[in-house]
Amino acid sequence: MGGFDLKEVTVTHHLAEQNDRIMAPMMPFMRFFLEGAWGNRTAPGADFVAGNPQEMPLPGFTAAVRRWAEPQDKDWFAYKENVDSAQEAVASALRGRTGMPFEPDDISMTTGAFAGLSICMRTLLDPGDEVVYLSPPWFFYESMIVSAGGVPVGVKIPPPDFDLPLDAIAAAITERTRIVIVNTPHNPTGRMYPADDLERLAQILAGASERNGRPVWLLSDEAYNRIVYTPNEHVSPVAFYPHSFLIYTYGKQLLTPGERVGYVALPPSMPDRESVRTAVFAQSLVVGWAFPNAIQQYMIGDLEGMTIDLEHLQRKRDRMVEGLRAAGYELHVPEGAFYLLPKSPNPDDDAFTERLAQDEVYILPGSIVELPGYFRISITASDEMIEQALPVFEKAFAEAMP
Ligand code: PMP
Repeated sequence: MGGFDLKEVTVTHHLAEQNDRIMAPMMPFMRFFLEGAWGNRTAPGADFVAGNPQEMPLPGFTAAVRRWAEPQDKDWFAYKENVDSAQEAVASALRGRTGMPFEPDDISMTTGAFAGLSICMRTLLDPGDEVVYLSPPWFFYESMIVSAGGVPVGVKIPPPDFDLPLDAIAAAITERTRIVIVNTPHNPTGRMYPADDLERLAQILAGASERNGRPVWLLSDEAYNRIVYTPNEHVSPVAFYPHSFLIYTYGKQLLTPGERVGYVALPPSMPDRESVRTAVFAQSLVVGWAFPNAIQQYMIGDLEGMTIDLEHLQRKRDRMVEGLRAAGYELHVPEGAFYLLPKSPNPDDDAFTERLAQDEVYILPGSIVELPGYFRISITASDEMIEQALPVFEKAFAEAMP
């Protein structure tokens, strides 16, 4: 067997197996984005697929990039971990919004919520620890949990109300549970969980921590906490539970997901924060220097108070809900985040997605977010796209009826 090296084969095999485990939960997403009608479209069409900008960025954002790109000293572009001014701007904004005394040292700047979630998981998980996530989920939770050595445990959020499934969360917790992930406002249901539910959740987690003799941690994914429709108000889950992490990204508030900046905040109620800060810092380094680039951190003071036009977003939500309901679709009105979640008139949501794509209207099938029979619409689409799409939605609904 000239040139055959068993050791090399084993290593390759091991890598393939590991990749399979991490990639398997992402495969429906990857197939849709890379191979589906949306991935292969030749014209922009009416694009409701992702929370991506469909219009020019906020002028204030561009001005901030220009302003802070100009070096003010020789260290301007030196290695930057957490930049003091960014931590201070975030802590001060969080104090104002939550009334909790967040401290600058408890803010870890990250390249968005992606990095924040990954860092928290790596900070908290021992191999084989279970992580409870809610389904329909954000696409990447499961793969991230596996990649951090954890075991994903999905808990269904029941339609049509999509309330926080407190009893099911309590039932899913075992002695191996280390983390529960909650996302409010929720992608893709648009639900925002009320204070009463969050308080009960905190009681459930505190009880489980006591039984287990170690904390069950709460990861509060608040990517959309600034994307809230009137008259709703965001309530942070971390206000109720000390063993929690607040994970944020500016990618939604500014609709700039390609500019990777966000943070992890430790609430002032967390015990033994000093050691947690150190662990989070260490993980931020080893996941691949997950601190945002220097310019993005200098900009935070300018960006904090800036948001996309939420009134416009709300008008688009209302126009879409009204238009879709008039065409016969069943859907609830989201309280926050970018998405509508109608029931597919064809129970095969993949086929319905393909049907709309024939008329250059692009949606996300529910099957990708563990919710077959539904589809997701991002209202970051422009007004023109909405007006172009509504007659197509109407026609496709009528065709799908028996
Ligand atoms: N969590 C949720 C619920 C999201 O929807 C997203 C973005 N789609 C993220 C985390 C990641 O945000 P970012 O890409 O800005 O890091």
